[in-house]
Amino acid sequence: MIIDCHCHAGTGDGLTGPWDTRAPLAAYLRQASAAGIDRTVLFAAFHSDYRVANRMVGDIVRRNPRRFYGFAFVHADRDRGRILPMVRETVREFGFRGIKLHRFDARITREVCEAARSLKLPVLYDVMGEVSVVELLATEYPDVSFIIPHLGSFSDDWRAQQALIDPLARHANIFTDTSGVRRFSLLEEACRRAGPHKVLFGSDGPWLHPGLELAKIKLLRLAPAALRLVLGGNWLRLTQGAGRVTTVAAFAVAATFSEREAGAAPRPPRADPWEPVAAEAPPAL
Ligand SMILES: [Zn+2]
Repeated sequence: MIIDCHCHAGTGDGLTGPWDTRAPLAAYLRQASAAGIDRTVLFAAFHSDYRVANRMVGDIVRRNPRRFYGFAFVHADRDRGRILPMVRETVREFGFRGIKLHRFDARITREVCEAARSLKLPVLYDVMGEVSVVELLATEYPDVSFIIPHLGSFSDDWRAQQALIDPLARHANIFTDTSGVRRFSLLEEACRRAGPHKVLFGSDGPWLHPGLELAKIKLLRLAPAALRLVLGGNWLRLTQGAGRVTTVAAFAVAATFSEREAGAAPRPPRADPWEPVAAEAPPAL
């Protein structure tokens, strides 16, 4: 069975680009079935209210549970104080199996990681090239699986992609997906050094063609058992037991990150205290 672990669905409420406007599935489904993809993991497009966006995805998953799985999209800052109940609701209502978040919205927080831990869900976090955080995630939350999509950079930053391969190989709980990765030699290196048990096939549909993305996996020329892992075995392993809440753990997270905090004004981004101050911009000529 081939599982595409990374696809967007629903409508966004922005108008910046496809990523926050619309993720229509009709063409994707034709392309995916022609390519032999059996199941697809869906999450929202960028949105100003992920509870609304998750519901849209949930409705699609609920209508066709044999074809789709879902991940809950959260905004680590805007949804702070309510991450656990928000994600738990999607697990109960729609059977969602993971958490998705993007650094473009906000950097990952302990609250997200601890919600994932208590609900036994993997986290798919787009680091947008900021690979250094992976070391912290791996060591602070060794019992949570983190999928770092695009080998660390959708924008094709080879330095970030190269840098991800080392923690991918060293840490048992760090994974990547292949969506949008153009530098084929880096995909080969990830499979060789980290192993096929750390790499998941994903397309970033509907914006990227799932058949084209799947062709890359076939070109890796993996042994049959390794290929099965990349094409779905890894994802099934990572989401085994998803949503089986341990009440004590869930209670602890809820107590730590009170819902009272929810809806408060956004915090200023936490900067690195040792970062050199940016040089003053030269005067315009
Ligand atoms: Zn994506």
